Amino acid sequence: MILEEATPSTDQELNPWHAAEIRFDEAAERLGLDDGLRKILRSPATEITVHIPVQLDDGRLEVFTGYRVQHSIARGPAKGGIRFAPDVTLDEVRALASWMTWKCAVVNIPFGGAKGGVVCDPSVLSQGELERITRRYTAELIDFIGPERDVPAPDMNTNEQTMAWIMDTYSMHKRSTVTAVVTGKPFQLGGSRGRREATGRGCMIVALQALRKFGLEPNETRVVIQGFGNVGGMAAKLMARAGFKIVCVIEVDGAVYNPHGLDIPALMAHRAETGSILDFKEAENLPREEALYLDCDILLPAAKENVITSHNADRIRAKILCEGANGPTTAAADRILEERKIFVVPDILANAGGVTVSYFEWVQDREGFFWNEQLVNGRLEEIMVNSFRDVVAYAEKHGVNNRTAAYMLALDRVAFAIKLRGIYA
Ligand code: GLU
Repeated sequence: MILEEATPSTDQELNPWHAAEIRFDEAAERLGLDDGLRKILRSPATEITVHIPVQLDDGRLEVFTGYRVQHSIARGPAKGGIRFAPDVTLDEVRALASWMTWKCAVVNIPFGGAKGGVVCDPSVLSQGELERITRRYTAELIDFIGPERDVPAPDMNTNEQTMAWIMDTYSMHKRSTVTAVVTGKPFQLGGSRGRREATGRGCMIVALQALRKFGLEPNETRVVIQGFGNVGGMAAKLMARAGFKIVCVIEVDGAVYNPHGLDIPALMAHRAETGSILDFKEAENLPREEALYLDCDILLPAAKENVITSHNADRIRAKILCEGANGPTTAAADRILEERKIFVVPDILANAGGVTVSYFEWVQDREGFFWNEQLVNGRLEEIMVNSFRDVVAYAEKHGVNNRTAAYMLALDRVAFAIKLRGIYA
């Protein structure tokens, strides 16, 4: 085995591309993947960097850097979100693109993987400025995206409105309305029922499956959720509705805790009113770090990368770690969690509900025929439950942890597609 020894929580440990490579190498090694395929799959197929000039509201011109990385198109069009954040890096986008390839393969939907990012701080930009950034970024990528090529979707700090702008810009260039160029659109523009809740719903479905392994019922399950945005907020709402006790929610400015379970709709209303989850009635404020180490049954990180590292993995007291975010755990932390026998539902499985319903949206757009919410949710549940069972059965059969099993399953599927297609020369 040629596993690189991860150094403790250095810049390298916190580089998502490094984490992606370590997990890839481990799965490839265990699968005995041949060298050529390993070379193909290890690096992204296409990386695009654009520098986009945008006029700000005060008249000044600013140039923003944007990326789109297409990791693989072996199993279908590249697929993955676009994030807007001040700290986006090419390595981060690379890692996220590769995770999309593996995610789509784990749930067996016919897509490859991609990711995009624009280095900008949405908190200081107006709607008009965000729209101009989005449209110019789309225009620069016009020859690289498309329903059969690469299909973007929302990610951090992008939403249905962003997707509507991308769809419109692309359509203006193509001279016809092309709804299937992006997913996560507003319902009125070809979006799918259930897409907004899909990632959170997928987390709940796999969490329910994981509970069975421990013989626990939802109403005796204490859940700590880190992040209260699209993924964490929806997961909290749906899980509370299903009877789980959401004992703690952690956000950037602190956490709120109630051992009997928080009233999630009321917490959402409180945040909408005050701008923060803190000082919520019938709950205690807690510092973020302390909250992450609470004794609980399920910990659901649903925000950013690198929340669980070699520095704090030994303090996590959850039985189940259900990764709603992409890359919340570093590769060095994996080993500690494994030693401590924490049951991990890895990101490429746990948060795959979003891209699964994106697939449904793309299918509906191309057919021009739309499904009701019940059908969407039923099909999502079937895919998530089957994928969970596949991964856990694979892990048990091969004596590896769930993350390695998910990567092995995914790599095997993508490698098989490449072998069948052959190499065009
Ligand atoms: N950004 C989401 C993810 O990381 C969704 C991607 C998609 O729907 O294409 O899975």
